[in-house]
Amino acid sequence: MPLQSILLDGLVVKEQSGFYWVETSDNTIYICQLRGRLKEDAQSSDIVAIGDHVTFSLREYDGADAQHEGIIESVRERHSILSRSVRTMGKRGAGQAEREHILIANADQALFVFAAAQPTPNFPLLDRFLVAGEKSAIEQLIIIINKVDLEDPSNIDVAFAPYARMGYRIIETSALNNTGIDEVNAVLEDKISVFTGPSGVGKTSLLNCIQPGLARQVKSVSGVTDEGVHTTRDSALIKLEAGGYLADTPGIRNLNVWDIEPDEVDAYFVDIARYVQLCRFSNCTHTNEPGCAVRQAVRDGEIAKSRYKSFYQLREDLRDTYIVYQR
Ligand code: GDP
Ligand code: ZN
Repeated sequence: MPLQSILLDGLVVKEQSGFYWVETSDNTIYICQLRGRLKEDAQSSDIVAIGDHVTFSLREYDGADAQHEGIIESVRERHSILSRSVRTMGKRGAGQAEREHILIANADQALFVFAAAQPTPNFPLLDRFLVAGEKSAIEQLIIIINKVDLEDPSNIDVAFAPYARMGYRIIETSALNNTGIDEVNAVLEDKISVFTGPSGVGKTSLLNCIQPGLARQVKSVSGVTDEGVHTTRDSALIKLEAGGYLADTPGIRNLNVWDIEPDEVDAYFVDIARYVQLCRFSNCTHTNEPGCAVRQAVRDGEIAKSRYKSFYQLREDLRDTYIVYQR
């Protein structure tokens, strides 16, 4: 019996060298490739990524082994895209020096892990994660403060106060004495989550508190470095026993923000964005113009100086890359 007319829907749970592992609602995995016409579009961005909902056709039946192979015919519209720019090598990238690499589609939430101490929180990095998160349209951005056993609670509150004021959910944990793990587990349940943070903050320890052995399954937090060069990658969604998935994708640690122009950075700093409308000039860059409501808010203590510094620095960095793009 020819099976090529049968269409199925599923979730992309793994990607490796042009093959996609697609899980259907009955938990069967089909190994799929892209329909040729979809490949044409894949030059400057990824057409399919982990987290995508796809429709695929079963490959024509030619023996018992072929039954769990398919061809991806279409990709459902995404509600979030977490991506970064990568330098391109070879023929991918449509002649551009950079292309968009989609780390994960349709993630429901991102958990950014930092430590209360040892190492002291790298706030500029947190700010970059938040910009990438805001840009991605991932609905819930959550800050995990681990190692709360090492720091005075009132110091932690003061240090993270700007983020609480912005409305980000903050979960305090200690992998050492199991504080906050129930809350993290409740957050992860039945959701697709991204989990990242700088090294040494306790990600490995936390993952193993969440589910024994989980850290071993999640490679990208255990020291795999990524130079930002587009190489063969192997991304996966790790299924959690309590329901839900955790993204495991190399490169999630250093999110080079993709496709943000210097002048739109302000929109992704939620505390700064609130003031933009009040600036005297509609094209205010918030760097040196008179009547800048953003800089006034910094002077008034309404916007944390550290946040403004992060904004300024990211804007400068993007300006440098942007100038390169224009050549
Ligand atoms: P990763 O690099 O983010 O994966 O961090 P690890 O999980 O390897 O932890 C780095 C170090 O911090 C290890 O020595 C851990 O034992 C320690 N550590 C992790 N979580 C905690 C915590 O909540 N409290 C304390 N005091 N130490 C922790
Ligand atoms: Zn301004």
